Amino acid sequence: MKILVIEDEKRIADSIRKGFELKSLVVDVAYDGQTGLDFALNEKYDVIVLDRMLPGFDGLYICQQLRKEKNHTPILMLTAKTEVVDRVEGLDNGADDYLGKPFSFIELLARVRALARRPSQVENSSLLSEDSLTLNTKTYEVSRTGQLVSLSKKEFSLLEFLLRNKGQVFTKEQLTERVWSFESDILPNTAQVYLGYLRNKIDKDFPKEKPLINTSRGFGYRFGISEKKR
Ligand code: CA
Repeated sequence: MKILVIEDEKRIADSIRKGFELKSLVVDVAYDGQTGLDFALNEKYDVIVLDRMLPGFDGLYICQQLRKEKNHTPILMLTAKTEVVDRVEGLDNGADDYLGKPFSFIELLARVRALARRPSQVENSSLLSEDSLTLNTKTYEVSRTGQLVSLSKKEFSLLEFLLRNKGQVFTKEQLTERVWSFESDILPNTAQVYLGYLRNKIDKDFPKEKPLINTSRGFGYRFGISEKKR
């Protein structure tokens, strides 16, 4: 198992490294965000342990960049701030788990192992699917019950995002931020509008199939079929 630790506090970084190495894990350490991001993008790791506050690029930015580059290595974010708002912020930005400082090494190891065991979320597969829907990230083909569905580029990006995060609830603001980040011509209801288009094409056009785009009343949208209905 190969781990990347991005942590600027040398004492903490080095003790994590020692601990992992005693458990026979292979460890790379980066003491700043820029180096960490370079390592993460150029090497293959099983888990990235990422400090939230870093000189240069901070942890949230690194998460965002990795996910934007379609790098889905599990990320455990370390933070001195443990308020709920921060946890949400981190998870929104693509971290998979969170650990507040100070933490025990045993806890860190357990979390890292749990993340590494997680079925690799389609990271290397070009085929994403849910129920009778499949999306191919290489050929840009989408089909439901084997029938091709034609989507615009933005509908495709939105669907890909939803498939990679199925089961999670997102508000329309979060969807806008995650799928349309850095675009200037977005309106407050952009995500809602595109969800409507998508819903017509992948759900309403297939009335015999279970709906995939679900509204979680008062919270937002959840993609996929809930375990109960499988
Ligand atoms: Ca720090």
